[in-house]
Amino acid sequence: MNAEILAVGTELLMGQIVNSNAQYISKRLQDIGVNVYFHSVVGDNPARLRGVLNIALQRSDLVIMTGGLGPTQDDLTKETVAEIVGRKLVLHTETLEDIAALFRRAGWTMTDNNRKQAYFPEGCIVLKNSHGTAPGCIIETDGKILIMLPGPPSEMKPMFEQSVMPYLEQKSPHKIVSTYLNIFGLGESAVENMLMDLIVQQKDTTIATYATDGQVTVRLTSKCKKDNPEDLNAGVEKEIRKRLGDRIYSTGNSSLAEVAGKLLLETNTTISIVESFTGGLLACVLSKIPGISRVFKQGLISYANRRLDKETAIQTAQDIMKISGSDLGLAILGHHDSGENHNKDEYAYIALVTREQNQVRCLEYKLVGDEQRRRNRSVLQALDIVRTYIQENTD
Ligand code: ATP
Ligand code: MG
Repeated sequence: MNAEILAVGTELLMGQIVNSNAQYISKRLQDIGVNVYFHSVVGDNPARLRGVLNIALQRSDLVIMTGGLGPTQDDLTKETVAEIVGRKLVLHTETLEDIAALFRRAGWTMTDNNRKQAYFPEGCIVLKNSHGTAPGCIIETDGKILIMLPGPPSEMKPMFEQSVMPYLEQKSPHKIVSTYLNIFGLGESAVENMLMDLIVQQKDTTIATYATDGQVTVRLTSKCKKDNPEDLNAGVEKEIRKRLGDRIYSTGNSSLAEVAGKLLLETNTTISIVESFTGGLLACVLSKIPGISRVFKQGLISYANRRLDKETAIQTAQDIMKISGSDLGLAILGHHDSGENHNKDEYAYIALVTREQNQVRCLEYKLVGDEQRRRNRSVLQALDIVRTYIQENTD
């Protein structure tokens, strides 16, 4: 199925807003294997809208429109579409009742132009708007599918997820299965090199790598008939796991913090931390994990250590472990970005000490980039040390 996204709105043409709806919809269509061949934008002008709509319906199987569904005079998407596909606009009583109820609850008076939102091209599927008043709709006409969605992204996105995705998935005889492998501690080019032969030979399963904020994700995607119970990504996934080993910290969308937090909770391992230049970012990230207060005992921001070296980091981690009575003590010490000389050698030290086996792990690495990058990278690094320590010591 080939798709076109048609955004309606003069604001878009005038550069007042960015067409983020087209970007969002394109990404989601790609996820379910629908090819997007065109993005079009047209102003709030019926003649020009008729023009692009005719072109879109000739060249695309699926046309998804956004914008112009509201109650005002310039909102003319439905009227124009009805005319092009030769259908009357008819009152959808359920929608009218929904709108009337909304106005009653809010204590507003309903004006005539609000009724306009309850009229739809005859025979279409009406899509409820759970975040606003203007519903969307789907029209099937001459083997083509035309979908109209509201302009505001806060209304369009939930409608797309709740109604359009299930509709499109049910239309397709295929299903698209994606597996996401999240990696820390290897750069994107290193990952690509390690998987190069698999990438070059890819057949049924496509392999794509993405780098985000110090982490790499490998996406495996395959397409098969809906009733095929086999996981077509499994073979490639197994081979990638063999190569990347414990650098893969999760599958799907769980973050490194979630993985480390879950391991602390599952093993009942308590932890306390001292941070300097990360300014409490590690504590902040950890504190977002549900239930973490059971194992995260103390977090301290301290610049008390003038010396920056491995010994000081280890000593600091041991101090906090003893003071708090935790199973693990962790310290992240390092240089703030001086903002002047990015080539200067500035280092961070992360130490993890453990009460039980009296183990010490300490990492020294050069800090690069601005403050934000240094902090994010160091927090991820610290979480990864916690993760690997627990994984290696439990089975
Ligand atoms: P409303 O009921 O709010 O009038 P509508 O469906 O008629 O919604 P428009 O009037 O075209 O939609 O646009 C309303 C608002 O939605 C715009 O002011 C803009 O903030 C946002 N919007 C519209 N189109 C897009 C788009 N393509 N990308 C991002 N935002 C958009
Ligand atoms: Mg509008």
